[in-house]
Amino acid sequence: MSSLLLRGARIVDPANTGSASPRDLGVRDGRIVEPVAGEPWDQVIEASGCIAMAGGIDLHTHIGGGKVNLARMLMAEDHRNAANPPPLPTNPLELPSCGCCAPGTLATGYRYVEMGYTAAFEPAMVASNARHAHMEMGDVPVLDHGAYVMLGNDELFLQWLAEGGPDARNFDQLRDYVAWTLHASKAMGVKVVNPGGISAFKYNQRKLDVDEAHVRWQVTPRQVVHTLARALRELGVPHPLHIHGSNLGVAGNIESTLQTITALEGLPAHLTHVQFHSYGTEGPKKFSSAAQRLVEAVNANPQISIDVGQVMFGQTVTASGDTMRQHVQSALGSPRKWVGADIECTAGCGVVPFRYREQSYVNALQWAIGLEIFLLVRNPWQVVLTTDHPNGGPFTSYPHLIRLLMDRSFRDEQLEKLHPEVAANCALRSIARELTLDEIAVMTRAAPARLLGLRDRGHLGAGAVADIALYRDAPNREAMFATPAVVLKDGAVVARDGRITATPVGGTFFVEPDYDRAIEKTLRRHWSQHGSIGFDTVPIGRDELCRCCNGGRLLPAACFASAG
Ligand SMILES: [Zn+2]
Ligand SMILES: [Zn+2]
Repeated sequence: MSSLLLRGARIVDPANTGSASPRDLGVRDGRIVEPVAGEPWDQVIEASGCIAMAGGIDLHTHIGGGKVNLARMLMAEDHRNAANPPPLPTNPLELPSCGCCAPGTLATGYRYVEMGYTAAFEPAMVASNARHAHMEMGDVPVLDHGAYVMLGNDELFLQWLAEGGPDARNFDQLRDYVAWTLHASKAMGVKVVNPGGISAFKYNQRKLDVDEAHVRWQVTPRQVVHTLARALRELGVPHPLHIHGSNLGVAGNIESTLQTITALEGLPAHLTHVQFHSYGTEGPKKFSSAAQRLVEAVNANPQISIDVGQVMFGQTVTASGDTMRQHVQSALGSPRKWVGADIECTAGCGVVPFRYREQSYVNALQWAIGLEIFLLVRNPWQVVLTTDHPNGGPFTSYPHLIRLLMDRSFRDEQLEKLHPEVAANCALRSIARELTLDEIAVMTRAAPARLLGLRDRGHLGAGAVADIALYRDAPNREAMFATPAVVLKDGAVVARDGRITATPVGGTFFVEPDYDRAIEKTLRRHWSQHGSIGFDTVPIGRDELCRCCNGGRLLPAACFASAG
């Protein structure tokens, strides 16, 4: 097998040593090794003046499944460049522009790898559409991938939750159902979206607060969140419950966000796109930053992690399982069109094009709130850098976002361009903090790896998978992070100077927690009455998963079940 030496890069590896002076990094058979003096290497890459980090890991990005496809179809103009068609690339590995806010599968892989990312996770897979989601991610070149399956709005879960009463007498049944769903859909985790609210919307409830009862099932979001978080904890699923909370985008929703944290009663959880859930009602426009209150809760609860869902200005498309909130949002669509869809009543889907404008008070404040959250959380290991692609903006804006976080004067300059009242109504201008390279490395690779339980990713210690990005150290951090000098995937060079040089097939992460098989009898009955396909066809086996994912490697993550 092959070997390679990266000579003289400055290693930024906060999971192990943090920033250190330049040293050599060895790669043998796809893994990182400690180089021994005099050892022969098949290939040597001169890396002095470069910074080496583990490959980037995006733990929340909508890259596969029904919503993404609907977004692509809805955003035809994003894919068409009729007025100015780009010349066809001469290099077959080079792709012409094919969508920015809803790129196709190939462009998704290319653009991520060109920035030094090597893994990405789809956060909103619908169980009944899992095959499609896996196939689509399998079609994304190079990137390793996985998905979180949506639960907590499906009728069966809500019915059983209702039957168990407030003290969850049938908790074992619910836990087994969660495990079966993860197993059958080959998911990496569970995401709950607007807990109970997507279902409530189908009964014409237009909002559902954390302690408000679902009109049909008489259960509350508090119960949904707690039950799912407890189930995952007991099943030993490494990634804790991934929560898209109640009241997304609503002024004053900080209250429900904080109530959601208390609903967890100390259980670990990941709160996603918290920027969209950190709004107050102060000021003349009754819309204000509640970043400070959110951050206080995060600082006080080390078992909680977050990703931000930063808003970036320009055209994008929002794609969410939260039909309730997307229905409201559809009135603000730009261009004015939208899709609402459902499969088998297990979750929901709304796709709304949106343009974030610098001169919009609300949009500009959203931008500031996201940055405040990044800069105010004390422990970077609790924060993951995301734009909730494409909801807050496309993932291709990450280098710009990194510069905003690392360069105060650049940030202040951008703030000046925004709606004039925003600076006066948020704390951003007074925040002097500039994130360090170590902190950026934590938020973009080390923390997501740890939060997903990927022990051999997100760091550069001996034995880790040789997914490595080599960036040329430059004062303009946007330019630096946009175009790494070299990107390695499993020890092989896949990009140089922002150009793809090879397109290996990525691997698929998933979990298969244990459960009592007796539950399958009940599920079989449910499926025969309500499902559109036979129960035996629902679960995806390992062989099929491999075929779905383009023959990529299977990367099962171990579960360490706890006694409860
Ligand atoms: Zn979400
Ligand atoms: Zn999302």
